[in-house]
Amino acid sequence: MTHRTQPTLLRVGAGMLLTVAAFFFVMASAATSHDIRPGIGVSEIRWLSDYLPALEGTPGDTEIYVLRGEKPGGAFLLLGGTHANEIAGVMAATLFVERGTVTQGTVYVIPHANNSAASYNSGVYNAGTPDWIELTTRAGEVRQFRYGDRRTNPSDQEADPEVFIHEQSGLEFDGGEARNLNRNYPGKADGTLTQQMCYALFELAEREKINVLIDMHESSITGRLANTLVSHPRAVDIAAFSILDLEIEGLALKQEVSSGEFFGLSHKEFGDRTHVLPFLIESANPGQEKSISNPDVVNDPRSPLSDRVYLQLRTIQAILTNHALLEGSSTAIAFEFPFGLGELLGADLGAFLR
Ligand SMILES: [Zn+2]
Repeated sequence: MTHRTQPTLLRVGAGMLLTVAAFFFVMASAATSHDIRPGIGVSEIRWLSDYLPALEGTPGDTEIYVLRGEKPGGAFLLLGGTHANEIAGVMAATLFVERGTVTQGTVYVIPHANNSAASYNSGVYNAGTPDWIELTTRAGEVRQFRYGDRRTNPSDQEADPEVFIHEQSGLEFDGGEARNLNRNYPGKADGTLTQQMCYALFELAEREKINVLIDMHESSITGRLANTLVSHPRAVDIAAFSILDLEIEGLALKQEVSSGEFFGLSHKEFGDRTHVLPFLIESANPGQEKSISNPDVVNDPRSPLSDRVYLQLRTIQAILTNHALLEGSSTAIAFEFPFGLGELLGADLGAFLR
């Protein structure tokens, strides 16, 4: 119970200048903080608002963990929690921050890409999903992690429009998609909170000269997208070689390429508008399956969380290996863990956390 939404006091330092009432307003809408314990690989912690100051002190702000390798190389942006109910991505990013080390290049890890979405769970796919998951560490400590929502918290953004129109393309979506981080790229500096988060991520990619972006997602266990690697057409060779490598190990992933007509998604917009090579990984979450009552989002034997985190991290490793082979060592990125990733399979994920 110790890790509920807590305002980060440092972030509201400007509150000194505000009235008491305004101070409490800022407190109430501050970014959700999480139990993430940076390990020896983390060189620096930044905030998304470093790339768009308008986000400072808002629920859309979120921590960015920077891990630098000794050997120079490329830059890699890893996103978890674009959809905050897709917890394998959140936990893979958390594990990366707590135990990973980078040997070449620089890695920017954002475990809660849409931090507003991490602040609530509307039960959009399955009302039986929890607000929190609990994992037990090797030392016997029970740690709690948010099970959030697909979309920005409605209390953090203006009311949804009837129809959400993706501004840059004119593509129309259901109004609620105005709060879907993965429909709002490339975003807008003075737009909605969701558009501002997208804009700040684009700024980060540009300023840090990101070479590779991987956005970690989950779908229902029977959905078309379960166990899929999506890439922009410019990254299709890297994706294909990665899938072949993983297939040899018995990890079967389907391949998809960004559609020419579906706009607003990370793999589409970063690929079209920047030099970034973008990918999106989908593991299979029983909590996104309507047919399962009271889904066990951690231990369901059909798709346990540790196996899904393995799928995410092993796929990332394969992508970065093939990126180095195809693009050359000057932009290569490499990381390692103090355990073999295969040890995650069928294991208790909490035992790998700090
Ligand atoms: Zn998703």
